[in-house]
Amino acid sequence: MDKTLKIAREFHWEMGHRLPFHTSGCANIHGHSYKLWVEIEGYCDENGMLMDYGEMKRVVAPFIDQFDHCFLCDEADEVMRPFLAGTPFKHKLVPFTTTAENLVFHFLDELWNIFKPFQQIQALRLRLQETDISYAEAERVRTP
Ligand SMILES: [Zn+2]
Repeated sequence: MDKTLKIAREFHWEMGHRLPFHTSGCANIHGHSYKLWVEIEGYCDENGMLMDYGEMKRVVAPFIDQFDHCFLCDEADEVMRPFLAGTPFKHKLVPFTTTAENLVFHFLDELWNIFKPFQQIQALRLRLQETDISYAEAERVRTP
């Protein structure tokens, strides 16, 4: 097999966040129904399969689950971090502002670690949608 192709699967979850630096609505506590398109590019096996969609779910869903119904908190957020520490609410601290751009880079790093061992996969592209009308996209290509 010398030709590559791409397959993709969508994942979704609910998550709260805020952007402390923002000067308008995004500074408020709010949430999104996030969608993540996980697209892999690579070579098919002898059965004509790049990766079973069920296998994609098996490896990605546990990663996504840690964010579902969670408040994603920038660890530099001096309002939310101390507040959340005193509550039982599900939250996750991250060392970056929780923009779609930063999130897609973070997810790309984490998910590439998951997909990299599958040698047939040559590239991983993520499209993260916060809303139906906007997305951030980033890609990692296998290096020799
Ligand atoms: Zn938002």
